[in-house]
Amino acid sequence: MAYFRLAWFYSVIFTSILLCLPVTATDVDTKLEQALDRYIQLTDKDDEKAAHTLLQQLAETNSDTPAIKSRVRLLSYLLTEAFDLNDNTKINVLLQQLLQLSEVTENANALAEIYATELELLLLQNKLDDAIIKADLLERVLLSATDLRQRYYGHNVLGRLYKADSQYEQALQHFISAMDIVAQTDDSFTLRRRAFLNFNIAHVHAELKNWPQAAQLAEELVNDAIKYKNVNFLPELYLLQGYIAGSAGKYDDAISINKRGLAAALEIGREGTALTFENNMGVGYIELKRYDEANVVLLQAQQRAVKLKDESSQQLIKLNLGFILVMEGQHKLGLEQMQASMLYFSKHAAKVEYEPYYTVLARAYAAAGLYQQQAETLVEQMALREEIRSTDREARLNELQNRYDTKAKSQQITILEQENSLKAQLIENKQLQQKLMFLLVLLILFAAVALLMLYRKVRRSNQKLYETNKQLAFQSQRDPLTGLYNRRALQQHMQLRSQKRRDQDASLTGLLLLDIDFFKRINDHYGHSVGDAVLIELSQRLLKTCREHDLVVRWGGEEILLVLEHLVPDQLSSFIERILQIITAQPVIFEQHSISVTASGGFIHLPFAGVSEELLGWEKVMQIVDMALYLSKANGRNQVCMINGLKVSFSQAEALLSSDLGGAIRADMLDITRVSGPGGAVN
Ligand code: GH3
Ligand code: MG
Ligand code: MG
Repeated sequence: MAYFRLAWFYSVIFTSILLCLPVTATDVDTKLEQALDRYIQLTDKDDEKAAHTLLQQLAETNSDTPAIKSRVRLLSYLLTEAFDLNDNTKINVLLQQLLQLSEVTENANALAEIYATELELLLLQNKLDDAIIKADLLERVLLSATDLRQRYYGHNVLGRLYKADSQYEQALQHFISAMDIVAQTDDSFTLRRRAFLNFNIAHVHAELKNWPQAAQLAEELVNDAIKYKNVNFLPELYLLQGYIAGSAGKYDDAISINKRGLAAALEIGREGTALTFENNMGVGYIELKRYDEANVVLLQAQQRAVKLKDESSQQLIKLNLGFILVMEGQHKLGLEQMQASMLYFSKHAAKVEYEPYYTVLARAYAAAGLYQQQAETLVEQMALREEIRSTDREARLNELQNRYDTKAKSQQITILEQENSLKAQLIENKQLQQKLMFLLVLLILFAAVALLMLYRKVRRSNQKLYETNKQLAFQSQRDPLTGLYNRRALQQHMQLRSQKRRDQDASLTGLLLLDIDFFKRINDHYGHSVGDAVLIELSQRLLKTCREHDLVVRWGGEEILLVLEHLVPDQLSSFIERILQIITAQPVIFEQHSISVTASGGFIHLPFAGVSEELLGWEKVMQIVDMALYLSKANGRNQVCMINGLKVSFSQAEALLSSDLGGAIRADMLDITRVSGPGGAVN
């Protein structure tokens, strides 16, 4: 019900009472803290003079205490007192001192009290915009504040600030936070603090239309106030409770609450409040259509209003009485009375105050059957609402703009500061980057050099490895003394040859096995090293004489095998002759020795006499050659016995071939040629 009246009475004393909470931190001036506790107790007892004297005394002796928290507390109390005394000069000086302390301390508890005091002051001065802008700072510092007293005070101030700014949800949060802190304390002020907070919380719930919560809290508050004989507080509590019940449509409850409120107000001589209770009771009766009772109590209220010279209340009561007349059938009289009241309000009251009364008037027109007027009244009310809303919106917009401007300015400063530090950071980053880059380049250079060195080393060692391998490969294929191929190389050569032979047409290979004559004698006569030298020299001569694709192999001690590829049969004898000649023609000269050397040999073709190599492989053929060599030796040396082919079939000759070559020759099975070296036999 919009025309229930709710009067709020706040007292600054609440604030100062609530500042006294136990100190939990250590960096405080204990004596000063105790004295400040005493000061709070004095204000609580309304002993203003003693309280003032004590505080002034403390200010004189302790104004420069190094204990930051106690100093802030002292300044905060002095500031509140200066506000009570309306001493603007003092307020400014003290505020400056407090704010200066905020510049030098990082103590979250001290900072919380400084910001909360500043906000409190702005709130008391009705500078809501400034306070809202600064609320952020307090909210932030409260996150790290640990002392109960400062945290309680901070949340308390923020709760009241947001409530005043109609930000009820926010307000509720802070009051509840403050209540949590109160729950951790237990001293003579705990009850008062709880009552104060609950009163605010109940009010906020009412504003948020959370009726059950609001009603419950209000009831608890009333019960506590009665229990603890807190009579001065009781009328406000009944007003709140009645307002909640009436707004929730519980008119019976509202009436009895207002009745109790009336008694409580009269008991302490608060006639203005009593008038409100009487009017509210009248409204309750009207809602319950108990018009007689409504009349009685409203007339009583009117007398009081006249006595108090409260014109506005008189007009409201008149309106309500006029409504009753209409309801009782005296339409004309009642409506005239109501119209007169409405005229008064339109001239003297704020639009927002009398806008709800149009509802009452419209109801009266409807009850009188004057529906046209009812409609007009409602249209008028709507227009008024729109007007209120638009001015309200304008005011809100202005307020928002103001808040925005101030906030934007403070943000601009912060942004500038941040920009500067950002720039410094950027420069630092750039320098760091350059340093890093330099180091990186250096690192890359080092790495490149190291890599290059490593690469070279690897390449060198690879080269070495390659050479070693090559050497190894060479060595594994060569005879170390003469440098001729060894038997292993021969083996591989013959394998390769047999693979090739399978791929291509078979071509003839000649095998010429040479053995130096009387080599033992050379060793014996000149010494082993001379023998070696002879071997080396002869090997060189043979290598020079042979073609690229021929293979010169050290077959055994002083036996050398020539593997002759791509033979031209016509030139074969002369080639063998030349071989014998290059061995014999020039003596080997070594250490002033001149050594004449001859050699004997055996020669054969592979494949032999058209016999497939599967039947008569190179190893077997070598046995035949060996015998041919033997025949040369036996025949006087310095000659080569060439076995050109078979005169009989292989199967006929096979047995003798592998065991007795001489026998085979004698049996005239073989086609043999003898090639003699220069000078003939050397026996
Ligand atoms: P023949 O005409 O019957 O072949 O007589 P020969 O003395 O050459 O025959 P023999 O097989 O009896 O002797 C070969 C000698 O060659 C025996 C061995 O001491 C010698 N000899 C083998 N290999 C080497 C070598 O690498 N260096 C030296 N200096 N002598 C070697
Ligand atoms: Mg020999
Ligand atoms: Mg020999």
